Amino acid sequence: MTPSRISGAKPPLDPRTRVQFLPGVGPGRALAFERLGIVTLEHLVRHYPRTWLDASHFVRVRELRPGELLTVVGEVKHASSLRTRGGRTDFTITVTDGTGALPCYFFGQGWLSKQLTPGTRVVVSGEIAGAERQMANPLFEVVEGDLESLLHAGRLVPVHALTRGVSARGLRQAVRRALDQVADRIPDPLPTGWGGVAALPLGQALRDLHFPPDAAALEAARARLAFEELFLVQMVMELRRRVFAEEGRALAISGAGALADRVRAALPFTLTAGQEAALRDIRSDLARSSPMHRLVVGDVGSGKTVVALLAACAAVESGAQAALLAPTEVLARQHGATVERLAAGTGLVVATHTGASTSAERRALQAKLSAGEPLLVVGTHALLEEKLRFHSLALAIVDEQHRFGVRQRAALAAKGMLPHVLVLTATPIPRTLQLACFGDLDLSVIRERPAGRGRLVTRVTGEEKFPQILEFMARELSAGRQAFVVVPAIEAGGRPDLRAAQTELERLKVQPPLAPYRLGLLHGKLRPDEKQEVMDAFRRGELHILVATTVVEVGVDIPNATLMIVENAERFGLSQLHQLRGRVGRGEHRSVCVLVAGALAGARARERLEVMTRTDDGFELAEADLLLRGPGELWGTRQAGFTDFRLADLARDEGLLLEARDAARALVADDPQLLAAAHATLRGILRDRFREPLELALAG
Ligand code: ADP
Ligand code: MG
Repeated sequence: MTPSRISGAKPPLDPRTRVQFLPGVGPGRALAFERLGIVTLEHLVRHYPRTWLDASHFVRVRELRPGELLTVVGEVKHASSLRTRGGRTDFTITVTDGTGALPCYFFGQGWLSKQLTPGTRVVVSGEIAGAERQMANPLFEVVEGDLESLLHAGRLVPVHALTRGVSARGLRQAVRRALDQVADRIPDPLPTGWGGVAALPLGQALRDLHFPPDAAALEAARARLAFEELFLVQMVMELRRRVFAEEGRALAISGAGALADRVRAALPFTLTAGQEAALRDIRSDLARSSPMHRLVVGDVGSGKTVVALLAACAAVESGAQAALLAPTEVLARQHGATVERLAAGTGLVVATHTGASTSAERRALQAKLSAGEPLLVVGTHALLEEKLRFHSLALAIVDEQHRFGVRQRAALAAKGMLPHVLVLTATPIPRTLQLACFGDLDLSVIRERPAGRGRLVTRVTGEEKFPQILEFMARELSAGRQAFVVVPAIEAGGRPDLRAAQTELERLKVQPPLAPYRLGLLHGKLRPDEKQEVMDAFRRGELHILVATTVVEVGVDIPNATLMIVENAERFGLSQLHQLRGRVGRGEHRSVCVLVAGALAGARARERLEVMTRTDDGFELAEADLLLRGPGELWGTRQAGFTDFRLADLARDEGLLLEARDAARALVADDPQLLAAAHATLRGILRDRFREPLELALAG
């Protein structure tokens, strides 16, 4: 334990003490800290650095060379303030160490004249540049004691997120003081006595993370704290899995499968091996009385809908109700139409419920549901939440929304029975992300696409090739095909390089090669019925070109559309582009996806897009996205609150992640309610941080 630097007999502060009571902070700066989410001393020591500057390389002034962050220890020789013409006061000093003199220039920091007076012993870290071989705005620190206790220069210097009213130096100083006071008494979610990265005591890890003595100590601290982050989320997964997967919670569905066989027999195709395998997984889950929670990942066009339909048959045949839920009205209608067509004459009762349903239709459906009639209802996600009440919902199939169902399942679980939940997604999830954020779902992957599809070619080009793109488009259209033009925004918001829906429509409309064709517009600000109208017209072939934002992204099935043009393609993730191109290549014709880099996209951006031409493997693209962009908004994890990992890095911490999962599994198996005294802190932290998903798991 580091002895407190604050003098004498005063007892150390409690971690829950508000920062304003820390020496040197006070009420005014405490308000500024609050903007960083820092209210207590615990928050302060948990305010991890964003990065570190390696200013630990000490040299003599004589040895300084440009292009490197180097540190010099010396004495301030000359110091002077200069008033610039703009009214700013700059400050300059010369530092000497017996081997030479180093000029340092501080822009707009006239106030330093009080601190860096001639004769002061000082450490400066920076890069020298210019003919004067001077350091501009170097990191610096007045040396009072030994060099070990430096905070701001001459070491691995932490760089924290700041806000107005909190300077880098002020924050470092405050963190140092807080660490001295409370680091060894921060509640530790990890039970004591664990080995591996967890063996490093929390207090030490916090100290070494903020003020690492060297790179190895920093990595050990980072690993310890990253493990903690991963472990907490794994605990959530395990506890949730345990509650939701309890035996007897769900209806065991194991009919003979006669209804599914009839639907299957009426299909105009045979299932792919991947579809069959997914279906087997699902059937075996359904046969158990513990609720299924399964994710089916299959590239766009891999045929997930029919798998869902056959699963629904099993539920309906066993006398229960099933729901197929789509994220948008457009898709709900499309699914409804598809499913009704495939089910015709097989005895499967299908009811499609959308925003366009009349209240009479709704009442009729509600009556059937209340009477417990076995049927499949197709609608949007909202259906389950508000519109209709099911009598015996045995299976909920959710299209394209990974995290759907946690809250709903929790609500249903509270009432007793749980539906089996099947989630369908075209977004491949990298393995680590799947483990980290969706560990409570089982996974089936459909890798192949059905045979008999036309080839899909992807090209990357630039805005300057617009005339050629137009001609190509006109050729495809004259052959009777249709085209999507996807843009990143509804409105350009004053950015000339950004293609926006309305303006793009107007631009295309007046191009002579497109004169014979009709264009439509689809974006998120349209009313649902307007969207529907446009989609229907496009589907019927009355519109030839659909200018759209990514509302068209997921699941839309228009086999006659063979051309996908994505404007400002650099603004999309690779997975997203992959999904977009999956909108074409669904019929028998050859399809083309043209990724158009915007006027301001650099060479790097184009290079990234080239990956799309080289691989058709959605998983590979997802991994590339994870490396390049981080988990970000992808896969809907942010809204689930599971990717605010500050230290864990899913692109490189797979080993830690597996350790964290194993540790969580073992712990939950041992103490499912976390009632042991050794787990009390963990329990409290989980409750505070993940209240909602854990209400059930830790009830009582
Ligand atoms: P997604 O997985 O993207 O949701 P869909 O379920 O919409 O894919 O299926 C895309 C198209 O492929 C549909 O027109 C569907 O009828 C068709 N399809 C599904 N399975 C097969 C198959 N095994 N053979 C041929 N066509 C299939
Ligand atoms: Mg689909």
